[in-house]
Amino acid sequence: MTMSYRGRHKSRWPKKTGKSKTVEEFVAGLRQNISPAKTYRERSLNIHGLICAKCGREFDHKDSHLLTVHHKDGNSRNNPADGSNWENLCVYCHEDEHSRELLGDYLNNPKK
Ligand SMILES: [Zn+2]
Ligand SMILES: [Zn+2]
Repeated sequence: MTMSYRGRHKSRWPKKTGKSKTVEEFVAGLRQNISPAKTYRERSLNIHGLICAKCGREFDHKDSHLLTVHHKDGNSRNNPADGSNWENLCVYCHEDEHSRELLGDYLNNPKK
């Protein structure tokens, strides 16, 4: 009965819990948390200003949520850094813009 498992326990390395992240992992995690949608929106608002490109309505920071970013070519993954594919539109004009696009698509490709 003198058998002991202590030696075995001691030789074991403590299991890594994954809670201690390296700096690189931490930064990578932060990057992933930044949604691209928010990033391009903020950039577009910075470049074009808080004004609707269509009706000219101006916004300030407290109602800037009413201003949305429209992709001129309709491709939300086309986000050039100079903002050339972005247009700041108020929610009303943006809706108008897209309802026309949909109607146009429908008329051009009725089967789509
Ligand atoms: Zn507008
Ligand atoms: Zn749009």
